[in-house]
Amino acid sequence: MIRVEKLNKSFGDLHVLKDIDLEVKESDVVVLIGASGSGKSTLLRCLNFLEIKDNGTVILEGEKIEKETHNLNKVREKVGMVFQHFNLFPHKTVLGNVIEAPTQVKGVEKKKAIEEGKSLLDKVGLSDKYDVYPSKLSGGQKQRVAIARALAMKPDVMLFDEPTSALDPELVGEVLLTMKELAKEGMTMVVVTHEMGFAKEVADWVVYMHDGKIVEYGHPSEMFENPKEERTKAFLNSVL
Ligand code: ATP
Ligand code: MG
Repeated sequence: MIRVEKLNKSFGDLHVLKDIDLEVKESDVVVLIGASGSGKSTLLRCLNFLEIKDNGTVILEGEKIEKETHNLNKVREKVGMVFQHFNLFPHKTVLGNVIEAPTQVKGVEKKKAIEEGKSLLDKVGLSDKYDVYPSKLSGGQKQRVAIARALAMKPDVMLFDEPTSALDPELVGEVLLTMKELAKEGMTMVVVTHEMGFAKEVADWVVYMHDGKIVEYGHPSEMFENPKEERTKAFLNSVL
């Protein structure tokens, strides 16, 4: 589904991603963990081309993607992204937010987009909120709208960058539950999160980043119970 080879990215003199190799197979849930500044967000952003790598390869569904040869807006349609801050359109209703991209970007007929949008909102548990404006929603509800909005483009992969970090603790569970259901349906997902319970329960692979490198990766049971690298052990001790 996604393959990254020898990916490097710098911001000026700051070398943020160093020879990253990563493979995400169809229906995999990959959880990225690591300290602040280790490059997790930058890696996610390189996967949907919000940041452009300096060198290395990003292969999406067997196709090597380069900014010179590909329409990155088209590529981004296949890679949905959910951020810590939901960035909903405040002047549009919940349903309006969800149908915006399919109708405006993909040219989906409005009636069809509404039908699909409602069904996505039902799926994330917001069937009673179609016509409500975002300001009337809790953070957890807003984040579930953001997930439905990303799904409305029918992406092949969903990227999540700390989707629950900005939420009050009591609202974290409902968003994680939505993500768990998505994983269960077979969605391919790359998730940056500090929710180690989610990682243990849902991840197929846990990837630990430190200082722009992948230090260690493995199944959650190996990573959490028997990490091999000292750095991984130290990090896990600090968060578990
Ligand atoms: P956090 O857990 O705090 O979100 P992170 O692992 O997501 O951290 P990144 O946001 O990828 O880390 O940042 C990695 C490094 O790159 C940091 O030193 C950051 O300051 C730097 N950085 C990120 N984006 C930019 C940018 N657009 N311009 C300059 N430096 C950047
Ligand atoms: Mg980040």
